[in-house]
Amino acid sequence: MNQRLSRRELLQLVGRSGLAAGLGAAVATHPAQSNAFTGSVIKDGVVQSTATCPTVVNGEVIQPQRKLTLLDQTDVLVVGGGSAGVAAAIAARRAGAQVTLVERYNHFGGLWTGGLVLIVIGHLVSGPKQVCMGIGEEMMRRLEKFEGGIMNRGPGNSPTVDAEALKFVMLDMIEEAGVKVFLHCWGVDAVMDGNAVCGAVFESKSGRQAILAKTVIDATGDGDVFAAAGAEFEHRTYNIGLVSRIGNLDKVDRERAKQNPKPPRGLGSATPIPGVNWVNMLGPETDGLDVSVLTRMEMNHRRFIWESLQKMRQTPGYEKVSLLETGPQLGVRITRALAGVKTLTADDVNKGARYPDVVAVGGFTKPERDEWHIPYGTLVPKKVDNLLASGRCISAAIKTADNIRLIPVCFATGHAAGVAAAVAAKDGCTPREVEVPKVQAILRQQEAYLG
Ligand SMILES: Cc1cc2nc3c(=O)[nH]c(=O)nc-3n(C[C@H](O)[C@H](O)[C@H](O)COP(=O)(O)OP(=O)(O)OC[C@H]3O[C@@H](n4cnc5c(N)ncnc54)[C@H](O)[C@@H]3O)c2cc1C
Repeated sequence: MNQRLSRRELLQLVGRSGLAAGLGAAVATHPAQSNAFTGSVIKDGVVQSTATCPTVVNGEVIQPQRKLTLLDQTDVLVVGGGSAGVAAAIAARRAGAQVTLVERYNHFGGLWTGGLVLIVIGHLVSGPKQVCMGIGEEMMRRLEKFEGGIMNRGPGNSPTVDAEALKFVMLDMIEEAGVKVFLHCWGVDAVMDGNAVCGAVFESKSGRQAILAKTVIDATGDGDVFAAAGAEFEHRTYNIGLVSRIGNLDKVDRERAKQNPKPPRGLGSATPIPGVNWVNMLGPETDGLDVSVLTRMEMNHRRFIWESLQKMRQTPGYEKVSLLETGPQLGVRITRALAGVKTLTADDVNKGARYPDVVAVGGFTKPERDEWHIPYGTLVPKKVDNLLASGRCISAAIKTADNIRLIPVCFATGHAAGVAAAVAAKDGCTPREVEVPKVQAILRQQEAYLG
């Protein structure tokens, strides 16, 4: 019988058999461009076992012992896909390791993109010279290829990125490097072998699963993995804000605006998109590890942003300004800091410290001072093995927090952790035993600046 397939049936068939590439442009179209909904039953009558559900015993909720399914097994596991985690994953992969990157949200970039923190500062020293290079610098170079991807590049400048362009660039670099990725996957525990980490546990729509790895990089910003692994840390409070973007600034009526003695508050700073500004927020100092606090911050900040915008629209000339978006990620700056083999001090930053085991270099917002060096020991926990920290939670005194947490410094320490983890996995040693000159040589090959 000569039965013609409908477009829907054909798409289903192609989707299941993976033949799309061979069937020409019409069926190779991305699903987003198709106009037909499709759906099918995978299995009916499904009832999950409750054998491992927690029960209440003497008023306490008790979780029974349970076996976890293995989601993956790899050389280097990176938990957290922010500026540090993405740089770490790409660096480790380019250094020859198998790498799996896990992120709790739906995009890469962490606070840099999801937090709408768009301006890159802290990479400049006198010269003017840029000291945070390597994979983060490559991201910014790639952004230049897109109209509206990045602005204010150039010697002595602090560039501002477009979050969506950067999410794309990161995705592109991750896929190009061959990093395996799991999104929508929240790291909730460490898998331990005595004092050594050998993986992490994740919660997702697929349930509670484990990934095993030779080396684990904590790039969660909050040190979720090193805390779970029993590594010593400092628990800190810091300002929590919520960044937003406002639009239609190109529609401000300049003549009417002249009636105001001064411009309204909260206009923010320019972005690469004409008429769109990003608006930073300091917010109160509080505990970013307390879920009740996080909830209150989100709700208070959203109300404040909305009400501030309504006030701005009552200002002559500014009636058309609109709120484009509030940051999908709350602006948590500092929570846990690792107690590492070495701890960076305020003196190190202010006096431009140099270390033989330098793996990353930091600068300042203005190119007026000397560079300062970050030693490898700030990434290595005092006691726990097979684990490295990166980004805003490395071992550094609280007085250095406003240097260590800046985006370029985070991508530089992520880059360093990625290379060190790859070397440890390849040499069959712990990160503590890694030959630092080997790490430095690969970092330089990968165009990092180490002084
Ligand atoms: C309001 C605000 C303004 C700022 N202003 C500037 C500025 O002007 N310029 C500048 O350079 N820097 C600024 N910063 C600092 C900078 O944005 C961040 O410190 C930096 O981006 C942190 O990078 P990171 O990769 O270490 O952490 P994050 O960006 O926090 O990335 C961590 C990633 O890990 C994921 N994650 C967390 N926990 C888990 C888990 N358990 N399992 C799986 N995934 C997890 C997160 O979703 C996130 O993607 C600002 C920060 C804030 C909050």
